[in-house]
Amino acid sequence: MSFQKNQILMVEIADMTSEGEGVGKLDGFPFFVKDTVIGDRAQIRVTRVKKNYAYGRLEKVLTPSPFRVEPVCAFHRQCGGCQIQAMSYERQLRFKQSRIRNNLIRIGGFSQELVDRVSEPIVGMEEPFHYRNKAQYPVGVDKNGKPVAGFYAGRTHSIIANTDCALGAPENQEILEMILNWMEENHVPAYREDTGEGLIRHALIRRGFRSGQIMVCLVINQRADGRKAGEYLPGQRGLIDALAGIPGMTSISVCFNPRRTNVIMGQETALLWGKETIEDIIRVRDVEKNFEEIGREISFDISPLSFYQVNPEQMEKLYSLALDYAALKGDETVWDLYCGIGTISLFLAGEAGQVCGVEVTPQAVRDARRNCGKNGIGNACFFEGRAEEVLPEKYEREGISANVIVVDPPRKGCDSPCLETMLKMKPERIVYVSCDSATLARDLKVLCEGGYELERVRGVDLFPMTVHTETVVLIQRK
Ligand code: SAH
Repeated sequence: MSFQKNQILMVEIADMTSEGEGVGKLDGFPFFVKDTVIGDRAQIRVTRVKKNYAYGRLEKVLTPSPFRVEPVCAFHRQCGGCQIQAMSYERQLRFKQSRIRNNLIRIGGFSQELVDRVSEPIVGMEEPFHYRNKAQYPVGVDKNGKPVAGFYAGRTHSIIANTDCALGAPENQEILEMILNWMEENHVPAYREDTGEGLIRHALIRRGFRSGQIMVCLVINQRADGRKAGEYLPGQRGLIDALAGIPGMTSISVCFNPRRTNVIMGQETALLWGKETIEDIIRVRDVEKNFEEIGREISFDISPLSFYQVNPEQMEKLYSLALDYAALKGDETVWDLYCGIGTISLFLAGEAGQVCGVEVTPQAVRDARRNCGKNGIGNACFFEGRAEEVLPEKYEREGISANVIVVDPPRKGCDSPCLETMLKMKPERIVYVSCDSATLARDLKVLCEGGYELERVRGVDLFPMTVHTETVVLIQRK
């Protein structure tokens, strides 16, 4: 049977891709349909037919899935940020857990029996909305030329106004309105992705959920040089006066990004008002006692360009699990690769002999060192550079060793020189924290073929309503 574009069909959604699209089959031929939920019977319009599969657009849900819920955000279909908001949170967690499992089996080559034996139930949230401590709103203009902030509609250059994101802090709205008003009053042009003209690209808002401190960083289409007086924006004073009046406002800066790219942040920032960083506090939790707080806390200074997990509540659970998996007795040397501002490193330092962090972003390394001093921690040090370069070099030249290695790489996982050196260093345990279970599984395969055994696996949902999840894994040397 052959299918054609624009054909109207009826499909049962039986599965979901890792991007959150529903999958339904007709005569064995798979259709990918965004916005459907596993269990839906849906009417779709065929949008694209390939040799072995096709895409469809959801026209109408004929029989809703038992897992379908009323989405809280009116824009959830257009925005694409919350790919699975129409699915019950319980079902989302099951979906994430089974994806971790499948990747470990299919990509990692581990047996089903082993994966099921070592897996612990995924850690979800009780209130899975408004959890993000960081928001990056693209700024543009609407049809009438009025400045708006919101999100890019699909794969287009046009911005749909929405400052009331279901994942963000509700207080962001006020800040965004101030920025938009200032733009209008001072005729500040918004950046246009299609022409590369205009000034204001994005508004980054970050807040310390425990400290209440707020950071605003405007990403602008301008070079860092040539503005000695520090006047980066038209009517800068007025904007600062307005924003500085918001309770908790701590840092106002600009970030220079003159490049034609969809990468949001540039490489350099300049402070307009307040401090370079905001502070936040992270508390260690007791994994055995349902993640109760145990009283130990660490405070962190965070720069605009440093990575910091977006979900503070789940982040505490994730790092507490990593600490638990590391099972430290007090005299170990621990390497924390991809350490960012030293969040996991400083958690570990409280229970280890010595912690060494490696991180590529200079601002984050500076934050990490400062955070060490800020918390009176004397047994941690940080190296700037790529993990796949710093680790082999230190190993070959200085013969460094480790009892435990913790890694927390970006989605692409660890590069092979990094994995190879880890194997040569022969640590007792490796704790792998991952935001992509596919690359996690790929790397675990290498490590386990090199003499390690899969011991514990647990998902932690840091990104409810989206398809993403974090996973913590413990592997032990045979
Ligand atoms: N463990 C930290 C950061 C995790 S995010 C935390 O939980 O907060 C991953 C970090 O790896 C980012 O800070 C990023 O800047 C850094 N990074 C990316 N590629 C890297 C590389 N090749 N070597 C070292 N660090 C890298």
